[in-house]
Amino acid sequence: MQEKGTISVNTENIFPIIKKFLYSDHEIFLRELVSNAVDATQKVEKLAAMGEYSGDLGDTKVRVAIDKEAKTITISDRGIGMTAEEIKKYINQIAFSGATEFLEKYKDADTSQIIGKFGLGFYSAFMVANKVEIITQSYKEGTQAAHWECTGTTDFEIKQAEKTERGTDIILHVNEDSLEFLEDHRIEGILKKYCKFLPVQIVFGTREVSEKGEDDKEQKVQKDNIINNTEPLWVKTPNDLKEEDYLNFYRELYPLSEDPLFWIHLNVDYPFNLTGVLYFPKVKNDLTLHKDKIQLYSRQVFITDEVKDIVPEFLMLMHGVIDSPDIPLNVSRSYLQSDSNVKKINNYITKKVADKLHDLFKSDRQGFEEKWESIGLFVKYGMIAEEKFYDKAKNFSLLQSVNDDKYYTVEEYLTKIEPTQTDKDQTRVLLYTNEEGKQDTYIQSAKNKGYDVLRLDGPLDSHFIGTIESKFEKVSLKRVDADIVERLIDKGEKVESVLSKSEEEKIVEIFKKALNNDKLDLKVEALPADDMPVTITLPEFMRRMEEMAKSGGG
Ligand code: ADP
Ligand code: MG
Repeated sequence: MQEKGTISVNTENIFPIIKKFLYSDHEIFLRELVSNAVDATQKVEKLAAMGEYSGDLGDTKVRVAIDKEAKTITISDRGIGMTAEEIKKYINQIAFSGATEFLEKYKDADTSQIIGKFGLGFYSAFMVANKVEIITQSYKEGTQAAHWECTGTTDFEIKQAEKTERGTDIILHVNEDSLEFLEDHRIEGILKKYCKFLPVQIVFGTREVSEKGEDDKEQKVQKDNIINNTEPLWVKTPNDLKEEDYLNFYRELYPLSEDPLFWIHLNVDYPFNLTGVLYFPKVKNDLTLHKDKIQLYSRQVFITDEVKDIVPEFLMLMHGVIDSPDIPLNVSRSYLQSDSNVKKINNYITKKVADKLHDLFKSDRQGFEEKWESIGLFVKYGMIAEEKFYDKAKNFSLLQSVNDDKYYTVEEYLTKIEPTQTDKDQTRVLLYTNEEGKQDTYIQSAKNKGYDVLRLDGPLDSHFIGTIESKFEKVSLKRVDADIVERLIDKGEKVESVLSKSEEEKIVEIFKKALNNDKLDLKVEALPADDMPVTITLPEFMRRMEEMAKSGGG
């Protein structure tokens, strides 16, 4: 039997268009073909488990091999295979209609945005090959093996094949532009990137290992070089896992990093499907360093580590893995932002993280405080950026006092300072420093008056201060050097200069001359005996305006 035919297309020849569309992301052809092989393998395993296939499953590893001379890459599986009819249905029609649909839908879209985001499946093979062959034997008894061949036009050829073993070989005849894919390290690199956690063993070449032979002597033997860990941590049940398992998995993902502080195992199946593990790394003051560490998977196939729209911005500092078949990976990023599943996933992750932090705070406050330097950054980032997170985090967000180095929740702190630091308008005035060395005399002065000073010197604290002021009623924060202490917390007592107006003006003139600047907005006062001879202050409001301007208005 031999048959020639034309793949029915209602647009023009699709192959040149596929090539053009996916130009920058050619390597995903391997991800697509290997995951098809894995799908086919899992299907036959399932059929066997259900008693619908009684043949011998055999060695079900998926194998990837390169033939440099023939310039071919072969992907072989022992999955369900296909009959000639099935090839016509699944390859010629279905896979093809997917590709056609892709073109129809995205004809007008910005092509640079969709490159690599659309799983073109089987047809992505034509990005690197000028001829593709399928040799396949179905698991169904009494069926004839089939051989399909297509040279990247809409014409295909199908004939009988000799294959007796169940399964499928996909043979790619690599085109002249894609010879890089005949290099071992290139293929191994792609497999390690996309297939590292696929659920069926993937073999690429062999590896030499030492083994004890029958005579008890060490000998070198060649073993299958297995690329993947078929049961990554996130697919396991949390109850079966120990702390060490989470740490080991973290080390596997980020070999050079310090151990994480703690982690959250994600696991939902309604109303969307999501599994994963998110780790809190130790964060120092540089926030940018840690972004883009979360890896996104779909059924254990690596998709991307750009999770910008899937994970809330403030949680991008976290590390780990998210796996969801419900995240639409095959569409443009701008679409992703408005996708309702993505929004739900976003909310779910935010809630999980907030709950985990709250649990930690409640169950081990001391441990929580010790980690605050790192956690505090996430928490403040989240409180500033996300209303929902703020609502939960306000209960465990901490403030540190310079006076006693202790940590307080905002509520606790307000209760603590209420008796001494409430001004005449019933506003609770929180004093803070963001540079202890430079502001030490002011801090001392405040302490002498019996006031408490907060340490707010982190990279997000200037924004965080604004968040607290806007959320808590009758709360105001002032930097210790913003004014003399008596006025920072204005209790209505008169603080008057002991100099006359004209004496003060004279001193202003002296300053202007000395600084050679007569535009200076200066005010001089001589106050009743204080612990400091001279105090120079800059009003809180003016300073904040300046700081805002410097940080870009944020
Ligand atoms: P998808 O995987 O999303 O269904 P593909 O274009 O990757 O789309 O594949 C199209 C169809 O071809 C598959 O659904 C499957 O029925 C069939 N197929 C592809 N590769 C194999 C294989 N190695 N073994 C058996 N069937 C396969
Ligand atoms: Mg596929």
